[in-house]
Amino acid sequence: MDCVFCKIISGEIPSKKVYEDEKVVAFYDLEPQAPVHVLIVPKIHIESVLGVDETNSAYIAHVFEVAAKLAVELGLTDGFRVVANTGDNAGQTVKHIHFHLIGGRKLGREA
Ligand code: AMP
Ligand code: ZN
Repeated sequence: MDCVFCKIISGEIPSKKVYEDEKVVAFYDLEPQAPVHVLIVPKIHIESVLGVDETNSAYIAHVFEVAAKLAVELGLTDGFRVVANTGDNAGQTVKHIHFHLIGGRKLGREA
């Protein structure tokens, strides 16, 4: 499948990983919007939040367990954001569900 995040999961494309287990991988965003900008990506190809259902929601729940762990490890407990851009109006560019973990500075309303 021609999916950049599936290729990162399979190791075909390199990434700067911060965490990996059987359900998710987390790696640094290529174009960080803040001092800490990590993408947490389930290891199954779901296109977006619209593809989440009872067959795959355990992966999404696990994403938030990992977000909590990484927020502590990366020193973000003063505040951070977890964002899943969904669809064209939200600017979703990669059609494999992913969660931006963003922090390390005071965040405005938009980013
Ligand atoms: P979105 O706009 O929500 O779809 O976010 C996609 C994000 O993936 C963007 O912030 C990109 O900078 C990031 N991105 C795209 N390709 C890569 C890559 N190979 N490694 C790391 N981050 C990437
Ligand atoms: Zn994919």
